[in-house]
Order: sequence, then C-alpha cells, then structure tokens
Amino acid sequence: MIIRRAVLAALFLAASCASAPRVIEAGEPVTAFRNVTVVTEYGGERLTHHTVAVRGDRIIAIAPDNAIVLPEGATVVDGGGRILAPGIADMHVHYQDPSVGVLMLANSITTIRNPSGFGVGNGPGSTIDLAARTVRGEVIGPYVYSSGQLIDGPGSFWGPGVVVDTVEGVRERVRQDAEAGYIAIKLYAQLTPEQFRAGVEEARARNLQIYSHVPASMTLEDVLALRVDSIEHLDGFERSLGGEGQGLQSRWVAAPADRVAPLARRVAESGVWQVPTLIVNLAPSRAFVDMNAADAAPELRYAVKGLLDFWHSYPARLPPGTDFAARYRTVEQAHVRRIEMLRALREAHAPLLIGTDAPNPYVMYGFSIHEELGFFREAGFSNTEILRIATLDAARFLNKTGEFGVVREGARADFVLFDGDPERDLAVLRTPQGVMAAGHWYDRARLDALLAESERVAQASRTQ
Ligand SMILES: [Zn+2]
Repeated sequence: MIIRRAVLAALFLAASCASAPRVIEAGEPVTAFRNVTVVTEYGGERLTHHTVAVRGDRIIAIAPDNAIVLPEGATVVDGGGRILAPGIADMHVHYQDPSVGVLMLANSITTIRNPSGFGVGNGPGSTIDLAARTVRGEVIGPYVYSSGQLIDGPGSFWGPGVVVDTVEGVRERVRQDAEAGYIAIKLYAQLTPEQFRAGVEEARARNLQIYSHVPASMTLEDVLALRVDSIEHLDGFERSLGGEGQGLQSRWVAAPADRVAPLARRVAESGVWQVPTLIVNLAPSRAFVDMNAADAAPELRYAVKGLLDFWHSYPARLPPGTDFAARYRTVEQAHVRRIEMLRALREAHAPLLIGTDAPNPYVMYGFSIHEELGFFREAGFSNTEILRIATLDAARFLNKTGEFGVVREGARADFVLFDGDPERDLAVLRTPQGVMAAGHWYDRARLDALLAESERVAQASRTQ
C-alpha cells in the first residue's frame, strides 16, 4: 500500500510539473504563434502543437499549446499545425535600396550579409543606417550584417570611388569602417600584397572580419595563409588549379581534374569560409545571349528602371565584338567545373556559405537564392545540409551562434511559417505563409500586398 501511494504521489508530481503552465507576464506587446510545429534548427528537434511567443525582436517562450498562458491583448496567430522554422540567410547580397527588402522576405530570407556596404560613414544612405532602420521597423526587409565599402587599388572595376593608392590609405579606410560601426572590411582584386596585408593587420587590430577576393597580385594560398574570414566566388581557385587560358572562365574549363580534391583539402585545412555565389557567374552571361528573353522572367516584374538600366548597360563593359553565345557556352562549362569544386569542398568538410551576389545582372534580389540552393543540391548536399548552411553556419560565421538561424528562447525572432516542409522540398521556401524578420511579422496577405506595391512602383518607373 505504502509503495503504491508513493508511486501515485510520484505520478501526481510528474503530472503537475508537466502541466504547470508557462505564464507570460504583461508588458510590451506579445505576438504568439499557436499550434505550430517548431523546427528548432534544421535537422534538429521538432516540437508539435507548440506555441512560440515573441516580444520585441526576441523569442521569449516556446511551450506546448496547452501549457502557456499569454498576457491579455497578445496578438495570436493560428499556425494551423504548419511548420515554423528558421528563416534563411543570403550571405552575399549588395542591399542598398530599402524597397527591395520585401523581395528577400517573400523568398524566406530573414538575414543578409552585405559584403560591401554603401557609403564610407554611417550617415543616411549608408548600410549601417539601413540596418538600424530595419530594426526600428522603418524599413521592411531582412536583418542586415555588413562590411564597409570594398577597398580596391588603381584600375578597379568599380571606379575611382573605391580606390586607395597607398598602404596607409588602406589602413585609413579600415579605421573609417571600424569607426562607422561596420563589422568587417572587404578587400578587393587590385590591391598589392603589401596593401592587402596592411588591411588584414589593421582589421584584426580592430576586431573586424575580413571578406575578400584574391587580388591579381596574390595567389589563393597567399590569402588562405593570412586567415581572412571569407573568400567570395571561389576567387583565385582557377589559378591555383593550374587552369591555363585567356580569362577566368577558360581557366576554370582548363583546370586539371586531379587537382580539385587536393585543393579542396587545403582550403578546408585553412578554415577560411568560401562563398561560391555560382549564380553570379552564370546568370549574367546567360542573360546577355538574349536580354529580351531574360527580361521576361517573372521576378523581373519587380525590377525598377534604374536596376534594368544598369543590367542592360553591362554588356558594353565587355570587349567589343564579344560573341555572347560562345561566351555563355564557356561559362556553362566553367559552371560544371565549379560544381565539381563545390562537391570536393563538401567532401573535404570546408566551411561554406550560401550567397547570390544580387543585384549583379539578372541575379534578382531574393528570387535568385533558389537557383543557388539548387547548385548545392547538384554538388551533393542534402536539403537539410543546405538549410543548415543557410542558417546555423551563417550564424557561426558571424560569431552569432544562437542569435539567429534557430528557433529558440532568447534568439532573435527571425523565422518563417511554411505551407510544407523545406527539408523535404526546398521549393517551399518560395511561398512562405508568413515571415518574422528582425522581430516584425508579415503574414501572407501583407507580403502579397507589399509585392503588388513593389510591382506597381517598378512598372511606373519604367514608363516615366
Ligand atoms: Zn558581391
């Protein structure tokens, strides 16, 4: 009898603990998502029939639906059993025009890294300002991490505005980026080795990350040895692979296959993150073959005149008499080789990030991420691996583990309500049923209205 009573007491205790409801105190407004299946992280735990409560920009509680008490006046969203999972990050996008933020949200992108900010300071129009306005809710768009504007040497593709001539000039630019509040610097293609090293040294002294190209004056190995944080576009790989020929794409095509795996292992050992941005090598040359056809892509309905003009003017920068069809055939072959490299990087466990490099020609904000994700599939990554790269690894790269890329108490409220399971089918990312970015909630109706407005503005800009 005594034993039985003890068992009952234990059972009672267990039951009462399990049912003790989580009470959310009154205070600042709360938005709660009831009856959702929480994906705490891709490839991780799934919590069915749960409620996620958000206050400000933070997830403050995650509990079973029947074990949470919300304060009076809380905004309640019925999830209808849908999956609520981390939003993804585009880790290479040049985001300056606030009006395109919604294009990224509508494609499940809740965080971006801008690897070359706009404006050297932090005043109006700078990327620092854009990031702050997003947090305040004045700009609709993803949460922004950014480096300062790219730093380059004489003859820069991007014009004299980004050029520094001296080693001291590079140091000065790094100091300006630090003072403005950027988290990183961006080192570009025309720097001398001395300038590049000075930039690395100055950035390290100020705790800034270093995002880089491999300058023409250096090898990939030189840059890996300096332990920069990231290299963009698999830059410099084709030279390291020993590919010979005229131009970047031809060198990729000519790269000996037996050098791919050893290079992938050297890159993995360096710990330097790679951001392949394969789409930016493919989409422009594909479009230049027939720009009228390219202009008919459905997502280009959101492209304003200024953006289209920039894209249309781009072929004029290429050598006169360029055969665009032949050029694209070479790029397609180079793309196959880059996929092969990406496959080797996966096998070597090299740290990777997913980015698009929008708005380079025909790399449209938000929409272009899906093709890039598809390239990772082609290179052998599973959906779950891809989603983990676009969430957990993105956060780890930025030293923000636990801050985003997860749905956990204390994390920033950056998540998506899905009609379907992105781990089964990545296409689900194209049609979020609602997006919470930087603590601001946009349901499907709101996203549709914002997209319609974006289309109206874009079309109006073209007829002026
Ligand atoms: Zn870029």
